[in-house]
Amino acid sequence: EEENFTFDRDRYRIIAEHPCYSENARHRFGRMHLAVAPKCNIQCNFCVRDFACVNENRPGVTMEILTPAEALEKVRQALSDYPFIKVIGVAGPGDPLANEETFEALRLVRQEFPNITFCMSTNGLMLPEKLPELVKLGVATLTVTINAVDPEIQGQICEYVNYHGKIYRGVEGARIQIKNQLDGIEAAVREGIVIKVNTVLVPGINDGHVVEIAKAVREREVYIMNIMSLIPQGAFAHIRAPTPEERQATQDACEPYVRQMRHCRQCRADAYGYIDQDMSQMSEERRNLIKI
Ligand code: SF4
Ligand code: SF4
Repeated sequence: EEENFTFDRDRYRIIAEHPCYSENARHRFGRMHLAVAPKCNIQCNFCVRDFACVNENRPGVTMEILTPAEALEKVRQALSDYPFIKVIGVAGPGDPLANEETFEALRLVRQEFPNITFCMSTNGLMLPEKLPELVKLGVATLTVTINAVDPEIQGQICEYVNYHGKIYRGVEGARIQIKNQLDGIEAAVREGIVIKVNTVLVPGINDGHVVEIAKAVREREVYIMNIMSLIPQGAFAHIRAPTPEERQATQDACEPYVRQMRHCRQCRADAYGYIDQDMSQMSEERRNLIKI
């Protein structure tokens, strides 16, 4: 049967109330991540499976995966206790678009909360195909992680992509992923979705290339770019993390092309509350103190 949801498409309000898109919102409004998406369809070299997607999240911690029904219950509770939460998102621990549960969870939440902002983060591989579903659910803000726009470089960052059940390694997989990321962003922008691009800064691999990413996303009207520091682990355990100065210099070099997010907390896939104060890591006693 056909559902008819109504969404608030007020772009200005959505940005102003999103703690990651608007620096001014970060102390006033919160977000809630629903950890409903365990599977991933690619293998980044800095990712250790079974932990959270490093493209958006702090790695190194396993977490409880919620069913869509459990996620809905958690949203009900959180929005009634903490009305400063204005954004409901799916950010892993795998790739949201590779998990049917992502769509089911958001569908359930949308039935009860017609106006809440929906957010998502993805590696972009399935974005062109899944975009119609995101539009139907009223996803308003979307993060795509782009670590290179040159397949030769992305082929060093991602070991393989699993696309429609077939494995494509290195440069071959990178070509598919980059095309889908950029095509997907263009199509999403045409639908009025506000895009953030995350880029993991990997010294010696993409550090000289990040400005090219900034130029490519500028052409596609990406709203904001978030350059994150590599957390060395997995196949990239031997690569050092960039220094804060190197990260800042890269952000400064990209700023002329696209607005820079500089306050990312690399949150968990089950984080909720203010981005500076993750309530998933608090005692119940402390959480109760914040209740409205
Ligand atoms: Fe890991 Fe995220 Fe890359 Fe998938 S997209 S391999 S979960 S870092
Ligand atoms: Fe926002 Fe960064 Fe946390 Fe994502 S990881 S919710 S962009 S602060």
